[in-house]
Amino acid sequence: MRIIFLGPPGAGKGTQAKLIVKDFHILQLSTGDLLRAHRTQGTDLGLKAMSYMDGGNLVPDEVILGMVAEEFQKPELQAGYILDGFPRTCPQAEGLDKLLVEQGQNLDHVLVLEVPDSELVRRLTARRSCSKCGHIYNLVFNPPKVDGFCDHDDSPLIHRSDDTEATVINRLKVYKDQTRPLIEHYKPMGLVRSIDGTGEVKDIYQRILIALK
Ligand code: AMP
Repeated sequence: MRIIFLGPPGAGKGTQAKLIVKDFHILQLSTGDLLRAHRTQGTDLGLKAMSYMDGGNLVPDEVILGMVAEEFQKPELQAGYILDGFPRTCPQAEGLDKLLVEQGQNLDHVLVLEVPDSELVRRLTARRSCSKCGHIYNLVFNPPKVDGFCDHDDSPLIHRSDDTEATVINRLKVYKDQTRPLIEHYKPMGLVRSIDGTGEVKDIYQRILIALK
């Protein structure tokens, strides 16, 4: 199964993608996670991406497409994947179309998680993630048992540098201007399903399962 996950930052794509990965035995390919790993490792790509990410702007298409093309070489992706945070612009969607043709692959679903802006700002500024396993918490709706530490491995939780209010507002604008229009790219393929991304994580996941049937 090959899925694209669209939706604004904070809609819950990462959280839901992890549930899908577990149940369907496919890989999650998150360009945001890949970029953060590059930054942690101090690679040239990571250094290049840093200022864009911290301002809530998109990293240039050629950087992203190069990184994704490299990931697509991995044999593990043959079992299927969920693309989380990619594509985000029309040139990226066209680049993905080309990659799919090269690999002889088709997409099965394009899921769009819908959440109102006011809720997204609340969610993102209270978001924390585990520095080791990446598990995502929310200080308001889903806090860790011990303040500041992961329930699963006791590692410290981190607040992403781009989850501040000013940056979040810019990221939402960037989504509306550059990423949301991709729905029109995929609509003619008959793959797009809109999912209500509000409410409990498990209820949202049930809606996703229905959409994937
Ligand atoms: P995310 O974790 O998906 O919210 O991504 C965090 C940041 O990484 C974004 O705000 C962008 O700066 C950058 N980024 C992630 N994926 C992409 C992409 N497909 N195209 C451009 N920039 C990206």
